Amino acid sequence: MAGESTDDLAAVIDGLLPQTQCTRCGYAGCAPYAAAIAAGTADIDRCPPGGAATIEALARLLERAPKPLNPQCGAESPPRIAWIDEDRCIGCAKCLPPCPVDAIVGAAKHLHTVIAELCTGCELCLAPCPVDCIEMRPAAPPARNQPERNRQRYAAHLARLEARKGERARQIALNKALAATGPLAR
Ligand code: SF4
Ligand code: SF4
Ligand code: SF4
Repeated sequence: MAGESTDDLAAVIDGLLPQTQCTRCGYAGCAPYAAAIAAGTADIDRCPPGGAATIEALARLLERAPKPLNPQCGAESPPRIAWIDEDRCIGCAKCLPPCPVDAIVGAAKHLHTVIAELCTGCELCLAPCPVDCIEMRPAAPPARNQPERNRQRYAAHLARLEARKGERARQIALNKALAATGPLAR
């Protein structure tokens, strides 16, 4: 890894992570965890969705000995995806914002459903649901390109949030400008 910058190394490490963005590693997502490993401030044993295979891949990359998953981050489990009991869903929409890949569809006051092939199994939608009508169910093993698809969906999700923030800021600035000019003369 000689001559490689910390950013380059972080990008390579990020490429080995499953991209569920579940935050179980204690970081805000896979990329921040990758950056912390590259900077030497996080160990390689903190990703439950990746489990032993990811730890081994990281150990190989960084020329270190593999180690067991840190139990403080959770346990490795078979792949699962979220499922919403539509009979119990009250349509509050509280599960939508936390989903890092926008895998839940539904509008306020309408029942919601999970698009199974998009769900990363991150479980971030479970806690906000006020009626506990979301459960995790077994899923097929992720396809080889699943991490890359997760990453692209997450990037699109972040871009949408940024665009919305920009739109809000523009609206506030416009409202302030209108207030400053006072009522329009007729
Ligand atoms: S999959 Fe979850 S635990 Fe693993 S690096 Fe990404 S955010 Fe962290
Ligand atoms: S539906 Fe739930 S478990 Fe699936 S990706 Fe979205 S937040 Fe994660
Ligand atoms: S948080 Fe629960 S009740 Fe609310 S819309 Fe989502 S699934 Fe339905």
